[in-house]
Amino acid sequence: MTKTEINMFQMVLKNRETQWGNGNWNREALAIDTGTDDLDRIEHASIRDSVIGGLERNSGWLREVRSARHRLASREFGICVACDEDISPQRLTAVPWAARCMGCQEALERETTETESGLSLLAA
Ligand SMILES: [Zn+2]
Repeated sequence: MTKTEINMFQMVLKNRETQWGNGNWNREALAIDTGTDDLDRIEHASIRDSVIGGLERNSGWLREVRSARHRLASREFGICVACDEDISPQRLTAVPWAARCMGCQEALERETTETESGLSLLAA
């Protein structure tokens, strides 16, 4: 991996960490609904649910992002943690915090019951 690529991933991951780590993204959608219209309330409730769902997923992604930044610093970035093979550039571009190559990720997802975690959806 070239220095330019490393710098690029460093920037991407840092932005992600800032975005997901500050805890106040989309906070207005979590604000208590003061609308009087029933339709408004229903709509707000569903937005709130999806935002809360997003926050839960984010805490998982944030862990992945931080771990990827750690690997970047220790020059292990882009190498599959399971089989030590290079992770394909296409996969890293799509999922910069990927810790596993496609094959190992798929194997992991077959074994795990957490296929609905959202991470797997993102990595697919
Ligand atoms: Zn692998």
